[in-house]
Amino acid sequence: MEIIVGKYSGFCNGVRHTVEEAKKVLEENSSVCCLGEIVHNERVIQDLEAKGMRTIDSIEEAKQGEKVIIRAHGERKEVYDRAKEKNLEVIDLTCGRIQVIRTKISSKKEDHSIIIIGKKNHPETLGVQSFSGKDAKIIEELEEIEPCLEEIKKRGKKKIYIVSQTTFNEEKFEEIANKIKKEWPYEITIDKTICDATSKRQEETKELSKKVELMLIIGGKKSSNTKELEVISKKNCKNVYLIQDKEDLKEINTKNYQKIGIMAGASTPENVVEEVISYLKDE
Ligand code: SF4
Repeated sequence: MEIIVGKYSGFCNGVRHTVEEAKKVLEENSSVCCLGEIVHNERVIQDLEAKGMRTIDSIEEAKQGEKVIIRAHGERKEVYDRAKEKNLEVIDLTCGRIQVIRTKISSKKEDHSIIIIGKKNHPETLGVQSFSGKDAKIIEELEEIEPCLEEIKKRGKKKIYIVSQTTFNEEKFEEIANKIKKEWPYEITIDKTICDATSKRQEETKELSKKVELMLIIGGKKSSNTKELEVISKKNCKNVYLIQDKEDLKEINTKNYQKIGIMAGASTPENVVEEVISYLKDE
């Protein structure tokens, strides 16, 4: 059995930084919580919770004196404002690349209509939207373009500035952005803010999934970037499974395959990937 592991598999720099910083905060403080899942990976969350971190669903649940971690995806502006009102100490671990998008948007929003191409309910997209003023639009599907442009026309700002969610599917971004460009008669700036960690991982997944009989995507079931890897692989390979860890391999007859590809999402720690590899080797 040949096992090929993608070289862009696993933690991206942003997630690595967030997890490492959270560990430091936990070493130095006794009362720490994180707003939402720190990354979409149960193993990472369990590990940090064992060190004392509490995961909360709303800023209202944070206690006085507790340090509040903002995860790599970032949060909506209202959350930062509310934390300030409540006198909470925020440790903002939002990835630098996402902060750059917020800054770019802030400088454009006065004279541009902002469009974010990304998942509608993703915390990163909602966070970026909240920093762009209430008029910014999110587009996830091609059919949303027409009503969105109609609305923009009515508002009267002719220039459009487009950004993307950092982990959005690159092909889908191009498709949506090009259609907007075709249909909008005025000035338009397309800023593809998909993170290069995401593009490289998606490109490698595409190539790898063409070469193997079985493709294993390792990551949390709620992880947007991991699900994208599954979608890309399914276009090229008949046997694709999204697994959280080696336990899920028990459901798959891996012995039937001679060539197996492995790719892990941006929030999957290395030890989970290693466990999967050693399980396959034992088989
Ligand atoms: S995928 Fe890119 S933008 Fe997103 S957390 Fe990782 S490094 Fe940051």
